[in-house]
Formats: sequence, structure tokens, C-alpha cells
Amino acid sequence: MTITYDLPDETATLALARALAPLLEQGDVIALRGDLGAGKTTLARYLINALEGPEEEVPSPTFTLVQIYRRGELELWHFDLYRLESLDEVWELGFEEALAEGISLIEWPERIAGAMPAEHLDLHLLHAEGARRAELTGFGDWKQRLAALPKELS
Ligand code: ADP
Ligand code: MG
Repeated sequence: MTITYDLPDETATLALARALAPLLEQGDVIALRGDLGAGKTTLARYLINALEGPEEEVPSPTFTLVQIYRRGELELWHFDLYRLESLDEVWELGFEEALAEGISLIEWPERIAGAMPAEHLDLHLLHAEGARRAELTGFGDWKQRLAALPKELS
């Protein structure tokens, strides 16, 4: 099952992050898919701020490939794998620890198709005439867990 939300502006992206944040727990993996500029980092930023506090600065991990946030109760690992050169490199970044101890938000998960856990939430952001659309598809447990999301964002 896929849940679709229209995201007419960034406020709607914030509303999606706020709806999703309470569902997240240790060990979760979210694949943030979408073209350049689709809003993956924006959504990750709002999710991290929802979980770790609004004062947390969330730079894009474009060059560092990963940023780790440990201030709140939850450990968040924000990956941007666009520049990943090999699958081995993701293990060197600590992916195993992220899967065990953290919540993993992964931009460009296509880069590690061979290492993505079967159980994850696929969150696809698409350009829609200046605005965006989000398509959420659950795999494994997430099939049921997605039912906790609201029909409409507020
Ligand atoms: P990505 O990480 O996918 O490359 P970014 O989040 O860095 O994309 O950039 C997305 C751009 O689109 C930002 O300029 C942001 O302000 C804008 N944006 C994010 N969400 C929306 C939305 N729902 N509607 C319109 N613009 C958005
Ligand atoms: Mg990005």
C-alpha cells in the first residue's frame, strides 16, 4: 500500500515530518528517494528537528556523507550517499551501528541497494508543478505501521 500526500509548500513538508516523527524508533530505516531538489534534505531536517529539538542545525551531508545527531533520546543518522563510491564505503561510515542503534534517514538509498534492509519505509518525493508530492510505501512491519499516519496533513 502507498500513501500519497500533496506537499504544496515547505509548511506541508514540515507537517509530514511532524506526523511521521512520533512513529520512529531505534533501528528504523527511511529511504528518502527523489531527484535533486525534490526535498529530501528539507524533510530530513524537519524530522531531525522534530526528534532532537528545533535548535539542532542540520547541514546537508553532501560531502561528509553522514551526520549523526545524539542530543535527544534517539540517535539519528542522516546519510547522503550521492557521492558514495562503493558499497564497502557505507560500512566504513558506520552503517552497521546506525542500523542497530539509530534511526537511519538515507538520501540516495539506490547507491546501497545491496545493503538496504528489507524492512524499511520508502519515502519518495516528486516534483509536482513547483510543489512536491510524497509517496510513502512500507516494507516489512512498515506495511502496518503506516496505518498510524493521518489521511490528511494538518
Ligand atoms: P534534495 O535534498 O532532495 O536535493 P533539498 O531539500 O536540498 O532537496 O531542496 C529542496 C528545495 O525545495 C529547497 O529549496 C526547499 O525550500 C524546497 N522545498 C522543499 N519542500 C518543498 C515543498 N513541499 N514545496 C515547494 N518547495 C519545497
Ligand atoms: Mg539532499
